[in-house]
Amino acid sequence: MQAINTLEILKNGLPDSVLPPRHIIVVGAGLAGLTSALLLQEAGHKVTILEAQNRLSGRVFTYHGFPGKMYGEFGAMRFPRQHKLAQHLIKERFRLETRPFPMYDEDTFIYLNGIALRRSEFYPAKMNFNLPAHEAGKLPDELLKESMQPLLDQMVEPRGWERLLAEYDEYLLIDYLRESEMSDDALAMIGPFLNLEGRFHFSLLEWFAHYYEDVFGDLVYIVDGADSLPNAFAPELMQAIRLGAEVHAIDQSADSVSIHFKDSTGYSQSITADECILTVPFKLLRHMEIEGLDPNKWYTIRNVYYGRAHKIFMQFSERWWQTKYQITNGLTVTDLAIRNIVYTPAGQDDRFQKGILIVSYAWGQDSMAYSMLSEGQRIAQALQDLIKIHPEARDTFEFGISHDWALDQYAGGIGPLFRPHEMSGRFFDNIVRPVNRIWFANDACDRRHRRWIEAALIAGVKNAYALHTGMRNELPEDFTE
Ligand SMILES: Cc1cc2nc3c(=O)[nH]c(=O)nc-3n(C[C@H](O)[C@H](O)[C@H](O)COP(=O)(O)OP(=O)(O)OC[C@H]3O[C@@H](n4cnc5c(N)ncnc54)[C@H](O)[C@@H]3O)c2cc1C
Repeated sequence: MQAINTLEILKNGLPDSVLPPRHIIVVGAGLAGLTSALLLQEAGHKVTILEAQNRLSGRVFTYHGFPGKMYGEFGAMRFPRQHKLAQHLIKERFRLETRPFPMYDEDTFIYLNGIALRRSEFYPAKMNFNLPAHEAGKLPDELLKESMQPLLDQMVEPRGWERLLAEYDEYLLIDYLRESEMSDDALAMIGPFLNLEGRFHFSLLEWFAHYYEDVFGDLVYIVDGADSLPNAFAPELMQAIRLGAEVHAIDQSADSVSIHFKDSTGYSQSITADECILTVPFKLLRHMEIEGLDPNKWYTIRNVYYGRAHKIFMQFSERWWQTKYQITNGLTVTDLAIRNIVYTPAGQDDRFQKGILIVSYAWGQDSMAYSMLSEGQRIAQALQDLIKIHPEARDTFEFGISHDWALDQYAGGIGPLFRPHEMSGRFFDNIVRPVNRIWFANDACDRRHRRWIEAALIAGVKNAYALHTGMRNELPEDFTE
């Protein structure tokens, strides 16, 4: 199989091709769509982007409704330094200003079993976790690292990742932890402490790929908001983008593809082109009539699993977390319904004493518990939980606003999660495989960076390359180091 360096292509553009320029329709103006469209347009193709919403950016969704320069990132908010394609776009191509987004602050809290402790004071026995002798005295990170050490060792061996895929694709994370003799008490502790409860019953290797890269170890945010990144594509692509165009059907013949879309009044139109790159999350394809996909492709489209998640932001008249608790970043983890409080450095306006907090960032079942509440109930319940840890919240609360990704008709969840048996073999091949005139690029299409912007960028580059160079029914591998 052909291998390409996606970072080099993103930097230098697509290679020369003997094929004539074509008309390509890109469905969706998230980062996968914008990236593939930009590369193809720069290589001389005619590009038309159809986007259902009235904004670019998809699951990058910056809420600018707070006063002054304050904003809230409902979607993506942090960019790992290890994500080379994203870092290239932010720093070199669009020159967007960034600042560190640290995830650790020892002044934040652990609130478990009704007990609140600063991270700096945390010790398992203080929270009634009675670890057996072989685990006694060890902190959650140490226990996890010990358990993962054999996999970390394998990664530095030749073809280590491929060997792990062959050996462990059938494992849930919890299967592996149990096999490494982690006790029930240790599991009960690391679950909430390290935010693993929602991951225990999904693919070991998907989670491990992110753990191995230490994606949460060194992060930055974009000072003017994460939506500055997709908006930076606008000067070059805006004329090619049709906003408010919701695609509902696609027909294809041997040499063309017709896309049918409706505007917000329900008025229907069609465009015919040479090729189509579909970048909408797979879940949403259930609402489209797509002609010519084979049963194996549909099986995979139906079965890619999308997780739930929400964020609840609140504005307070004072940033008491800084003045009273000396907390400037990081997160407090709890076993309360709110789960995680994120003291976001992004979106504050230092001219004001006012500030914003992500009072609840939760996934999976935890998020489902909020999905069933009205907006007012969500805010009230989250505030009650917050007050248990920070009583100052009561008198300084001004307003709250939430976004539930499972209820977002243009997202269908936070993003894709692998389950066992899905990272290798036919299932994964069918995720990425183009079918005749239709190509598939989104953040489900990359094993190592799934559910991150990096995955959307890699998928965008790979599809643009394959389409431009005349590959059919397959995609190249990526060997970016
Ligand atoms: C809560 C949350 C937090 C996250 N945090 C981070 C983070 O910190 N860092 C990070 O790197 N990643 C993060 N991510 C993941 C990141 O946002 C995604 O991986 C990335 O934005 C996906 O890009 P995409 O282009 O594949 O899909 P999308 O961004 O979903 O783009 C798809 C586009 O298709 C459009 N569309 C949908 N249906 C139709 C239709 N019928 N017709 C036309 N258009 C349609 C949508 O409106 C959308 O614009 C987060 C995601 C969420 C939800």
